[in-house]
Amino acid sequence: MRWAAYCHCESCRRAGSTPFVALFGVPDEGLTWSGPVGTYASSDDVERGHCETCGTPLFYRNHSRWPDETHIPAVTLDDPSAYAPKAHIYYNERLPWIEMRDGLPKYDGTGDDGTRPKSDDEAHG
Ligand SMILES: [Zn+2]
Repeated sequence: MRWAAYCHCESCRRAGSTPFVALFGVPDEGLTWSGPVGTYASSDDVERGHCETCGTPLFYRNHSRWPDETHIPAVTLDDPSAYAPKAHIYYNERLPWIEMRDGLPKYDGTGDDGTRPKSDDEAHG
């Protein structure tokens, strides 16, 4: 796992039908799926995957920003309790009735440089 964060961006909220999404990033290498996976382009260069049987969102890929990385909702894990978010990203896009008081860092965009997660303790896009 390269990083783990809550994403508050509008795109993730709409794709997940949820006020924010707990995500983590993994390298594409070695990542495989079993079962029927559908995909759609949610914006230019962005692919979102879902289970074709039940519709559960399964992944996010941005082929230009993170060409070798897949972002996965933590609640799809067999054991989501193993997940530990390290930050809030796109906190500037949060819904007005969301206020997180968990002490985690909050970023406008994906992190300090606004371009990509830099390590395990930073975030997504
Ligand atoms: Zn997002």
